[in-house]
Amino acid sequence: MSISIDRDVCIGAGQCALTAPGVFTQDDDGYSEVLPGKEDGGGDPLVREAARACPVSAITISEKGVEASRAS
Ligand code: SF4
Repeated sequence: MSISIDRDVCIGAGQCALTAPGVFTQDDDGYSEVLPGKEDGGGDPLVREAARACPVSAITISEKGVEASRAS
């Protein structure tokens, strides 16, 4: 799994950090960041939930290089 955040799309709603605080955090400007070392999701089942929770679908989860899930 690989997580990417489109920071051009992110509006800093914070839903990802609220939903999966073990993987996502917010920078000083409120935009989402993946915590260091958690770029692969760290096996956290809440990652997909966080992607779904994002109101602007800024979080993309890829599996084996294929875009497998984009929150809608
Ligand atoms: S939930 Fe989406 S819009 Fe909100 S901080 Fe996370 S990535 Fe950005």
